[in-house]
Amino acid sequence: MEYKSTRGSKDVKSAAQAIIKGIAEDKGLYVPEEIPALGEELEGLKGLSYQEVAFRVLARFLTDYTEGELRACIESAYDSKFEEKEIAPVKKGGDAWFIELYHGKTAAFKDMALSILPHLLTTAMKKEKEDKKIVILTATSGDTGKAALEGFADVDNTEIIVFFPNEGVSQVQERQMTSQEGANTHVFGIRGNFDDAQTGVKKIFNDKELEARLAGQGYKFSSANSINIGRLVPQVAYYIWSYVKLLEQGVIQAGDKINIVVPTGNFGNILAAYYAKGMGLPVNKFICASNKNKVLTDFINTGVYDIRRDFYVTNSPSMDILISSNLERLLYHLSGDDGGEIAALMNCLEKEKQYTVSPKIREGLKEFYGGYADEAATNRTIGQMYKQNGYLIDTHTAVAYRVYADYKEETGDETTTVIASTASAYKFAESVADSIGLPKEANGFAAVEALAQATGVRVPACLQGLDKKEVRHRGVVDKEGLLEAVLKSLKM
Ligand SMILES: *Cc1c(COP(=O)(O)O)cnc(C)c1O
Repeated sequence: MEYKSTRGSKDVKSAAQAIIKGIAEDKGLYVPEEIPALGEELEGLKGLSYQEVAFRVLARFLTDYTEGELRACIESAYDSKFEEKEIAPVKKGGDAWFIELYHGKTAAFKDMALSILPHLLTTAMKKEKEDKKIVILTATSGDTGKAALEGFADVDNTEIIVFFPNEGVSQVQERQMTSQEGANTHVFGIRGNFDDAQTGVKKIFNDKELEARLAGQGYKFSSANSINIGRLVPQVAYYIWSYVKLLEQGVIQAGDKINIVVPTGNFGNILAAYYAKGMGLPVNKFICASNKNKVLTDFINTGVYDIRRDFYVTNSPSMDILISSNLERLLYHLSGDDGGEIAALMNCLEKEKQYTVSPKIREGLKEFYGGYADEAATNRTIGQMYKQNGYLIDTHTAVAYRVYADYKEETGDETTTVIASTASAYKFAESVADSIGLPKEANGFAAVEALAQATGVRVPACLQGLDKKEVRHRGVVDKEGLLEAVLKSLKM
């Protein structure tokens, strides 16, 4: 399997090379030359462990890794770091099924990919005889940063630098990052939003002069954001897994279609679901849920992607994004692999802050339903779900459930539906506590305690005693100051 750039250059890479490189030379994203078929019956996966299902999926995409290499990566990633033996349990909540993706080390779904990415990357470095030290540059809307820090802390021959929106993450998220240990970890708040952070990081990636200067010092950049194909592929596995779990429980029969609902920000998670369908997963609709930053909802409904709009800080901060990077990959596939067309659209976005897709791409978008929920609807949904079903969901997952409810009302579609449950409710304790009617606490940490008291739901180990953890990273930079922070972190 080879990987090509979405922007059409002849820059063809193996999976290992694409994972090391992160982003393509022409600023495009790496995509598999074709989405591989799973090549076996889903029915036959019943009874297998998560690790085994993950292996079957990864082996199809990462064909240059040996079986031994892949199994070693999987065993190191999906182990007792996860607080659930099943890694990603699938649970009923109301009229939908929730795949809980947040039982890893940082209590958000980013752990599903970032527990394994460091292993995939260090294996790739060995395979490619890469002798440079890899510098992982990461922009985060709140959850990727911590998951990447945990994944890469004290990993040999790596440095990791994270930028988060200084006033755009929850208190729990912030402390998770600023208390990070590890000699190779560097964390900065930026005075700006996630888009500023992601744009700044992409600019550094594309700076040729800097690349040469870094090489002189024995460094090379890579990415832990979902622009890295090594982030996406592990996420395909859990959609296949969710289907197998429903088969095992007799909820569906082999061949039945399901809907998949994803609370969406950078479009990585929902793209992984689309890849799962490409592998052979029977999917009826992809339901793309946004918060008040509803650029994707409008895009799916009109074919016009337009970021000339206000940016809102919401209580589902990991979705506070206007430029969803991975949409580029979907457009590439829907265009019939037309790199020239995608390069033109992305140039248009950079220059005119908007673009309109072709009729062909619009046709392909019919597989997707787009909807959004504002904060009031999100909070109401958390309250109702808890009251009616005793099931606690976080703000992001609540956005997804709300949009699913709207979809169902609009279409009458009764297809079995799987919702990606992307974070522990405790990461957004203040909003969740408020939504289920608890009195306001002094801060996010007190809200965690109060929520635990009231619901009896176990607090993830990583969030226990977080308020007592020492803050080790205090740097805050302007959005123009990313480069300087990077150079300082690398002592250059
Ligand atoms: C990152 C994140 C999302 C958005 O996922 P994308 O892959 O960026 O679309 C949703 N919910 C939570 C909790 C997240 O951390």
